[in-house]
Amino acid sequence: VTRDDEAFLSALAGVLPGDGLLTEIPERYTHDEALGVEPVVPLGVAFPEDEAAVARIVSTCRAYRRPLVPRGGGTGLAGGARPHPSGIVVSFERMARLLEIDSEAGWARVQPGLTLADLDEALAATGLCYPVYPGELSSTVGGNVATNAGGMRAVRWGTTRQNVLGLRLVTGAGDVLLTHGALAKYSSGYDLTQLVIGSEGTLGLVTEVSVRLRPRPLATTLLVGAFRSLRALPTAVARLLASGLEPGLCEYVDKTALAAMADAAGLVLGVPADVTEQTSAYLMVELDASDDDLCGRLAERAATLLAAHGALEVFALPASQAHALIAARERAFWTVKALGAHDILDMVVPRSHIADLLEAAQALQSATGAVVAGTGHVGDGNVHFSILATTPSLSEEIAQRLIAEALALGGAVSGEHGIGVAKRDALLAHEDPLRVELQRAIKHAFDPDGLCNPGKGAP
Ligand SMILES: Cc1cc2nc3c(=O)[nH]c(=O)nc-3n(C[C@H](O)[C@H](O)[C@H](O)COP(=O)(O)OP(=O)(O)OC[C@H]3O[C@@H](n4cnc5c(N)ncnc54)[C@H](O)[C@@H]3O)c2cc1C
Repeated sequence: VTRDDEAFLSALAGVLPGDGLLTEIPERYTHDEALGVEPVVPLGVAFPEDEAAVARIVSTCRAYRRPLVPRGGGTGLAGGARPHPSGIVVSFERMARLLEIDSEAGWARVQPGLTLADLDEALAATGLCYPVYPGELSSTVGGNVATNAGGMRAVRWGTTRQNVLGLRLVTGAGDVLLTHGALAKYSSGYDLTQLVIGSEGTLGLVTEVSVRLRPRPLATTLLVGAFRSLRALPTAVARLLASGLEPGLCEYVDKTALAAMADAAGLVLGVPADVTEQTSAYLMVELDASDDDLCGRLAERAATLLAAHGALEVFALPASQAHALIAARERAFWTVKALGAHDILDMVVPRSHIADLLEAAQALQSATGAVVAGTGHVGDGNVHFSILATTPSLSEEIAQRLIAEALALGGAVSGEHGIGVAKRDALLAHEDPLRVELQRAIKHAFDPDGLCNPGKGAP
């Protein structure tokens, strides 16, 4: 710690309450959950309790030209919350309140540090829910906004983009911006809310968010379809999504991933051996309705449709097994991490090309001997490949080839986890320079000194 560092930290301590700044840094603040991203120890971790404190922190960082890295739950998978060694982390755990619910108009106003688990619990009694459910519910609304989090339910309700009405931001220039309030429509100039969503903390710090609320499903049925052919699966998905049945989730899990998930969860699905042997991938489809009868009828129609489009068998799971399988799917990241995965890719392609991408992954698996296990939000064209290779360099080579394949198919390097530091090289290597230049200009307008999460994301 240099004399300059000390002067900066002492100025920062002066604008925060007594325990609002940590300079002995607990390990958890040195990283997020991205695989292969080295931890970094910041000079301090600041804990603002309100928006005014956030603005004071930004002003102090500007005065001392010090970078700041916003942090929510630290569950990000791209290294977006990785600290900067000469700057601070701004943790939102003390700004975690649900401020207001308007159940008639269907929105809630929340602080950014509110976790999805706490928001869901608070909404349970209202019959409403915030429909963005990434796999990790200890993530926060602010982190979800910054990454444009998606998850299993996006196929029905969209990602964070479709479910945030407005927000407040302390920009990198220290100004307080209300993009707009809880408006259902907006045709009054550039949509600054959408600009901030997915900006990974590079424009400023989100201090409040108005989220859309949707009806909480009353009755649900989970179907599992077993598919022999990877080619058949996307066609079945397309027919399902065009059927008007409106599945609440539509997840692809290949046979390797399903075996690992079931094993880790101690889950026996009872799929007959002759079906398992012929299956290359499974489709999880959840139907919901206002009562069990209706839900059962919708599930029957969906099962018939899947069987008509290539499913060898379709099983309706009993409720307890359905919950366990969805929970196991949410925990898939921890399962493959425990198995030693080097990388988990998050790529998205137009849904019409998903079979090409899945086949490319399978071909790479056969050619290299590595495991390339796939799960993902196939209804959105968004799949995650877990790579378990004998060496990190082979894993990297496979990742690069899959990225090139996805881009050649008209896809992108991230569908929902963001760029952070982990995907920055891949993005900048392939991105249209005009898009990068425009994003840099936008960042400069919000953050003239370049102090907000430098070196992250697209700009
Ligand atoms: C098991 C597991 C499953 C997951 N499943 C999914 C999934 O299905 N879909 C999905 O989209 N993601 C998934 N993720 C990734 C992760 O949960 C999301 O990226 C989530 O949005 C991160 O939220 P967080 O609060 O943990 O943010 P953090 O990791 O703390 O930060 C993420 C980014 O947001 C920025 N940020 C945080 N708070 C603010 C703020 N107030 N203002 C400005 N910037 C801010 C940070 O600087 C960083 O760039 C999963 C992660 C795990 C571990």
